[in-house]
Amino acid sequence: MRKTFFVISALICLTLCGCGKQEYTSSFFAMDTVMDLKIYSENDAAISKAEAEIKRIDSLLDRGSGESEIYKINSEKTAAVSGETADLIRTAVDISEKTGGAFDITTAPVSDLWGFYGGSFRVPSDSEIQTALGGVGYEKIRLDKNTVSIPDNTSIDLGGIGKGYASDRAADVLRENGVDSAILSLGGNVYALGKRADGSNWSVGITDPDDKSQILGTVNVSDKAVVTSGGYQRYFERDGKAYHHIIDPKTGKSAQSGLSSVTVISQSGALADGLSTALFVMGLDKGIELWRESDSFDAVFVDNNGQIYITDGIRDAFKSERDYIVEQK
Ligand code: AMP
Ligand code: MG
Repeated sequence: MRKTFFVISALICLTLCGCGKQEYTSSFFAMDTVMDLKIYSENDAAISKAEAEIKRIDSLLDRGSGESEIYKINSEKTAAVSGETADLIRTAVDISEKTGGAFDITTAPVSDLWGFYGGSFRVPSDSEIQTALGGVGYEKIRLDKNTVSIPDNTSIDLGGIGKGYASDRAADVLRENGVDSAILSLGGNVYALGKRADGSNWSVGITDPDDKSQILGTVNVSDKAVVTSGGYQRYFERDGKAYHHIIDPKTGKSAQSGLSSVTVISQSGALADGLSTALFVMGLDKGIELWRESDSFDAVFVDNNGQIYITDGIRDAFKSERDYIVEQK
């Protein structure tokens, strides 16, 4: 009787979870945010490896940690780093070139002035901003194989691309370990690996920038990154004005492009992350122009009036009860 019960239970589990796979979850803090991983697997070995991979990348890129390669570049101004860090900086510079400098990993001295790094928020004077802007400019970065050089008044911060890159690497580690179904959420950066246990696509919610407790819609995806940048994610208020963490490298101030959030959907988490930051700075018209010239991403834009715009490539994947405008190629 006991044996029959055991066999029936095992069969139910196999049917529900598919081939003896179970759900494993992991929640931890890294890269300044909470990360949630969920995988379907025969055991928990792969999820531990994915978590370790994200933490490894965090220690490589965290500019506040004396052990990191970015710290080394920022303090020594010329430093030999791993091929991995050099390649990620190359990817970041490439995104800068494609976005007319809207994405720029050298905005760090300006972010620091506003207190976005460290948390002592303040509104700096225009002359302080102008001085800090003297060090800003991705074209100042020199890359000679794995040696990175920057001028004395420049520093690098990969906060706008690092989480997306980490999601790509974590997904690779999971695949290498035989996992074909997982959803990784790295603080606003989601990576949907394969399909859900029941064979359907993952449905990723997009936060309503005007009410963070709500979602404004979902995108149904498989093997895609879905990354959102929004002024609502980190900001402070002074004298009734809100200042957020996405800096327009041209002004040294919070980007004011008429958008309240941008979500980018792409096969590459690093690209989706870099582009979501860049499109937020560029605004709707330039963002759509860039999308028309590219075939590597789609996007959901929300403007300051709450109007939603989506690109044609996700017409079937996007679901929302709100009105939205579909942009065509
Ligand atoms: P995200 O949350 O991906 O949009 O990136 C915002 C983070 O990237 C900020 O917290 C800064 O560390 C950094 N950042 C701010 N403005 C820019 C920019 N224009 N280009 C690249 N990185 C930026
Ligand atoms: Mg980003």
